[in-house]
Amino acid sequence: MNADLRERQQALEIRNLAVHYGNSQHWVLQDFDLTVRPGEFVVIIGPSGCGKSTLLRLIAGFTQLQQGEIVIGKRVAATAGGVCIPPEKRDVGFVFQSYALWPHMTVKANIAFPLEQRRFTTVQREQRVDEVIMKFGLKEYQHRYPAELSGGQRQRVALARALVGQPALLLMDEPLSSLDVALRKKIQDELLIMHREWQPTVLYVTHDQDEAVKLAERLIVLHEGKIQQAGTPYDIFHSPNNPFVANFFGEVNELSGSVVENQGNGYSRIRIGDHTFILTRTQSFLDCGERVRVFIRPSWVELQEREDVSNARITGSRFMGAYTDYSLEWQGIPLRVSTQISNSKRVGDSIFVQVKDAWSIKEDEI
Ligand code: ADP
Repeated sequence: MNADLRERQQALEIRNLAVHYGNSQHWVLQDFDLTVRPGEFVVIIGPSGCGKSTLLRLIAGFTQLQQGEIVIGKRVAATAGGVCIPPEKRDVGFVFQSYALWPHMTVKANIAFPLEQRRFTTVQREQRVDEVIMKFGLKEYQHRYPAELSGGQRQRVALARALVGQPALLLMDEPLSSLDVALRKKIQDELLIMHREWQPTVLYVTHDQDEAVKLAERLIVLHEGKIQQAGTPYDIFHSPNNPFVANFFGEVNELSGSVVENQGNGYSRIRIGDHTFILTRTQSFLDCGERVRVFIRPSWVELQEREDVSNARITGSRFMGAYTDYSLEWQGIPLRVSTQISNSKRVGDSIFVQVKDAWSIKEDEI
């Protein structure tokens, strides 16, 4: 092992990765770099076909790369046309949507299976398996076969099996998407507790935004094989890098405007339409007159029932339980708003719109 490798402290390092399938000219992932710190919980989110599963399969060793390098822990796991450590030697655990349990083995035998390849004494192996079985609440099911378990129980077994060998990296590919909503939420809670206690390094793929926000310490938005933005869920929701991220990650009003005043503190006054002015946060330094794209989340708008003044008209409303979705015509601009106002307000009524928060990106950076 060379000195450079010994120095590396990351759980996963991917450099300059590129991959395509077979003779296809289409690069599924290109110019792809990613680093995951030990103990970090990273979630990758993106639309179907953007390359999420391909990425996990490359890291696990089920797919070959055409360019770049993958380092897991302190070991080079794969290089283009060179090193290719087989999946069982990569020190990764893998949890799939489909559970992938051995149907002819009991719960206990499934969980113990990864340890059979390792140098453990029988006593050590038994201790570790029992510990994991207790942790995941599987004691009373340990002698059952997978077919005798519910979906949630099977996924717990799959998770226990992936973690039993304490891998350097746990890869999870949409593990909860075949479970119903209530069970999904419950297992998400269990995953968070497990992560707090055991601190495994997790790379988790999902297309479910709520799940991503709940689980991710760091979120990566992927589109057409390229990272669009990486950051905390809060930063990505509040300050998206581009219109794709803004629209993919929650509903948003996307408007065009121009800068009338840069306040120099990360805020600028923007004109939208002929006579609407709002204060927005901005990504980069903006000059007066510069064209910008303005993003306003429906929840960033407050509606006030004022008798003296109005600046908008309700054109549609839909009761959603905890809040109501309104469509408005705001000084000639269509605007979606999610809020609570008294349900006496009807389509056609006047209302006062106050934009509490907004985010702008330069048009020429899009
Ligand atoms: P995601 O997990 O984000 O839905 P995938 O990684 O499964 O995306 O797929 C990315 C792209 O690679 C898609 O265009 C898909 O059709 C293609 N692809 C995936 N697996 C194969 C394969 N085995 N052979 C050829 N193309 C594939």
